[in-house]
Amino acid sequence: SLPLSVKVKLPHGIEYDQPTGLFINNEFVPSISGKTFSVISPSTEEEITHVYEAVSEDVDAAVDAAEKAFKNSGWATADPSQRVSGLLKLADLVEEHAEVLASIESLDNGKSLMNARGDIALSAAYYRSCAGWCDKIDGRNINTGSTHLSYTKREPIGVCGQIIPWNFPQLMLSWKLGPALATGNTVVLKTAESTPLSALYLAKLVKEAGIPAGVVNIISGFGKTAGEAIAIHPRIRKVAFTGSTATGRHIMKRAAESNLKKVTLELGGKSPNIVFNDCNVKNAVQNLIVSIFYNSGEVCCAGSRIYCQSGIYDELLSEFKTAIEAVKIGDPFNEATFQGSQTSQQQLDKILGYIEKGKAEGATLVAGGERFGTKGFFIKPTVFGNVTEDMGVVKEEIFGPVVTITKFETVDEVIEKANDSEYGLAAGVHTEDINKAVDVSNRLHAGTVWVNTYSDFHTSVPFGGFNQSGFGREMGTEALDNYTQVKAVRIKI
Ligand code: NAD
Repeated sequence: SLPLSVKVKLPHGIEYDQPTGLFINNEFVPSISGKTFSVISPSTEEEITHVYEAVSEDVDAAVDAAEKAFKNSGWATADPSQRVSGLLKLADLVEEHAEVLASIESLDNGKSLMNARGDIALSAAYYRSCAGWCDKIDGRNINTGSTHLSYTKREPIGVCGQIIPWNFPQLMLSWKLGPALATGNTVVLKTAESTPLSALYLAKLVKEAGIPAGVVNIISGFGKTAGEAIAIHPRIRKVAFTGSTATGRHIMKRAAESNLKKVTLELGGKSPNIVFNDCNVKNAVQNLIVSIFYNSGEVCCAGSRIYCQSGIYDELLSEFKTAIEAVKIGDPFNEATFQGSQTSQQQLDKILGYIEKGKAEGATLVAGGERFGTKGFFIKPTVFGNVTEDMGVVKEEIFGPVVTITKFETVDEVIEKANDSEYGLAAGVHTEDINKAVDVSNRLHAGTVWVNTYSDFHTSVPFGGFNQSGFGREMGTEALDNYTQVKAVRIKI
């Protein structure tokens, strides 16, 4: 049977101990079923290891541990300084282990080490930011006259189920764990089946940080089994999900049918990135590159629809093409690589399918449009011109390094096009005119608008969607609202 820890040698020489078990009650344990599954390195197509696969009985065991910890460990009820020190210690440990964590991300996700290091830095910063909230979860004292004392408290929800995707395994883990723990909840978190490794490594750090047993439970497994078991579990009081809109809709339905657990969803997008004649072209081009090729385009808020005003269209396109040629693609462990591989064969096939669809729809390839190399799931940065708004490549989330570019004339025209989407996660605006920037930001239907920047996150700034991009917010004070419920107390004097 599979040992609970295996030695993994990384391509650049580091060797580390990779846990393979389910992390329940601060211990790594095999699945009750004994089942395991294989984890592949998408940049080499070689197997890294097997890990244990959680089935619904394992989810029950994790919920038992989380429920016991919620009731008995004092995590929710003791002086919040316990949570402050747990989260601060976790932030320190993530920084101490940053290089191995980043390397594991590159290994099973395929993202470049350059991108992965940024993710780890942001996740450590977020644990630290959440540590600062633990003792600031206040209620209100409400003046209802001299006959009563009326006040509110914000209490944790209880056992929270969390289901994360494969595009940012560590960062999504921190966005989910941070606010849930800061507010005194306990957690059963399922990682995505293609990227379970770095979360299991983080589980070791959770224990080392002194976070009580059962507060954090991390399981590897598949959506249709372990994910489903979380969505329908009668003792899980809230489910937080990041992933596709279709799966989010399904989870919400299952949550409603089971025990009406609270739901927050961070879903897909097809975000517009608008470039006006009066922008700083050099800066805009750099932002276009980051917005769509960062993380190999596997980003929910990717700026996958570029709208460029006619006066600078030719200049921008020419500079964009030059910048694309400079994007270093390939081995994620090469220090200079910006764009690594896609995460799985399934993603590769899906993206190549969209490229074929774009061509069949009559769009013109301006750059890329094919695989890079023959081994590993790499795709060249791809740009489609000559597109119309009804094409699949303009409407649907591709989730890869594929972007469309469209010419526009007026502000009204581009607002209408930008908002013509069922999604509403993010948008980019490039202009040197502050009045235009504010006016356009006001009129865009998106949870985040970036002006003269893109994918520019801060731990204090909330992130989340309008429309079918979901609801609830990650980071900022808003994330804490997702994990607390208000209790009103009214005392007759
Ligand atoms: P997915 O949404 O199905 O998977 C995300 C997570 O949900 C994984 O942990 C998965 O195991 C889990 N899951 C799947 N089915 C479930 C179910 N029935 N119940 C509970 N949990 C379930 O995404 P995918 O199939 O891996 O990728 C498909 C597409 O989704 C991608 O091509 C992309 O367009 C989109 N996607 C978006 C994001 C995002 O951040 N918005 C992230 C990942 C994928």
